[in-house]
Amino acid sequence: DRDDSDILRENLKNKKITKDKGTRATVENVLDQRTLKFVNKFIYSGLIQQLNGCLSTGKEANVYHAFEGDLLQPEPTLKKQFAVKIYKTSILIFKDRERYINGEFRFRNNKSQHNPRKLIKIWAEKEFRNLKRIYSYPYILCPKPEDIKNNVLVMEFLGDNNIDSTTKPALKLKDYDEYETIEDVYQMYYKIIAYMRILYRVCRLVHADLSEYNTLVFNDDLYMIDVSQSVEPEHPMSLDFLRMDIKNVNLFFKKKFRNLVLFNERDIFQFV
Ligand code: ADP
Ligand code: MN
Repeated sequence: DRDDSDILRENLKNKKITKDKGTRATVENVLDQRTLKFVNKFIYSGLIQQLNGCLSTGKEANVYHAFEGDLLQPEPTLKKQFAVKIYKTSILIFKDRERYINGEFRFRNNKSQHNPRKLIKIWAEKEFRNLKRIYSYPYILCPKPEDIKNNVLVMEFLGDNNIDSTTKPALKLKDYDEYETIEDVYQMYYKIIAYMRILYRVCRLVHADLSEYNTLVFNDDLYMIDVSQSVEPEHPMSLDFLRMDIKNVNLFFKKKFRNLVLFNERDIFQFV
């Protein structure tokens, strides 16, 4: 019943991979030996201490919490925190993702996309690059990308920072309920529409999986995450993805706040 991070912690303590059946199955699912090597590089370089709890287990990736390494911050002060997104290496889902990479100018002529392991590396790099691009503009908030090694991406952790090591990750837009008035809800709705427009016109990206699950609310402000599948406007399907994003956003606000007056999707599309 142990989770990956327990096993990982143990492995790191013993500085070797245990080979008993139980751990092998779990570790190999996400944290295979290769992946552990990349995690270890971040630990030995002093960037992170270790992987703590798991923030999320998804189909394509797990996200772990980590404190910055002791080397950087030897005093017991408030430690910087990271979210470590680890792309899983053992899945077929990535097949479906090829269409996001095919047709992307930035990844054209890349023969490695048929090798699953290399595809995952490309995928992680894609998220890192997209995060860097978004982060470089002040108009949209997203976690600061820190570093990447193969399928292991380290970024800023969005959430509370307590000295006693208790951490509370930011809520997904889906779960955020601290609106005081209906105006606050409208502000959030307008903001996410503005984000789509700025993302398209300034960052030159379409999120392509925008939803109440891939937006976090931290300090009452909206952050965009999960941009591995985001594409440039030149991608032949970018406008289809954009229409999908708009549909998802409207659907969420319609379901959650029934008496909200929403823009129609075509108008949002034109605006973006
Ligand atoms: P997936 O591909 O599995 O959907 P996401 O990038 O959407 O991966 O991350 C999954 C979840 O992990 C998010 O919904 C969020 O709860 C948490 N998460 C991801 N990045 C961060 C971060 N930088 N800070 C805090 N929590 C995060
Ligand atoms: Mn997601």
